[in-house]
Amino acid sequence: MKKIIASNFKTNHTRKSTREFIDTITQYMDDESIKNDVYIFPPTTALDQFNINENLNIGVQNAYNVKNGSFTGEIGTEQLDEFGIKTILIGHSERRHVIGESQKDIALKYNYFKSLGYKIIYCVGEPLEVKEEGLTSTLGYIFEQFDGIDLDYENLVIAYEPVWAIGTGISATIEDIATIHKKLKKKITAPLLYGGSVKLCGLQDILEIDNVDGVLVGTASWDKDDFKKMIYIGSKTGSINEKIDCKN
Ligand code: PEP
Repeated sequence: MKKIIASNFKTNHTRKSTREFIDTITQYMDDESIKNDVYIFPPTTALDQFNINENLNIGVQNAYNVKNGSFTGEIGTEQLDEFGIKTILIGHSERRHVIGESQKDIALKYNYFKSLGYKIIYCVGEPLEVKEEGLTSTLGYIFEQFDGIDLDYENLVIAYEPVWAIGTGISATIEDIATIHKKLKKKITAPLLYGGSVKLCGLQDILEIDNVDGVLVGTASWDKDDFKKMIYIGSKTGSINEKIDCKN
């Protein structure tokens, strides 16, 4: 299996709890010699210098496409450089649909961070009304989210995150994920993650779907013990026969 496991803290955790979380995960990855890629996206205020395992990557949930300047409320690469951050989430549905970033804004941001060699986790996904129109509409909607995006960029990871599944507790079905990932994989060579209410108990089934290279997890990843178990599941090759202790 050996899958990518990523945690998006969104607007959760403090500087103190982020440091505890990252230290715990690093210790766990060192102790267990974890070799698959793990990402953590803390809130910007919790960015710092961390001593981390070589397979753990700390990224930023958002930044503006500048080095520095007069962009009130934003941060640029000068601020990221201070902490050695070279990984960014772009196109997350909350930025598209809550904050209102357009595809043009997103493509500008993508190309800026691409030009600097950042690892980019690029998120795409359709809202409920589009899903209800069927597969052709869903794929059409997702493909529009590739406008202005170089899909051959070598430092790209894509996350398919249906908007209706993010933070709602309703994950896509195995069939939904399998169908969309198969279609997307015909267009892209980058690793493809699934995200949208992934829970610890259902993680293994999702990771076993063809064309799923890992998961991007919000809510269910904020507990460090659960996140350790997610990393454990993702680090195994083949399926795990033991029962994972999980509540949901
Ligand atoms: C996310 O933030 O990318 C996400 C998938 O959140 P959640 O797991 O809470 O749905």
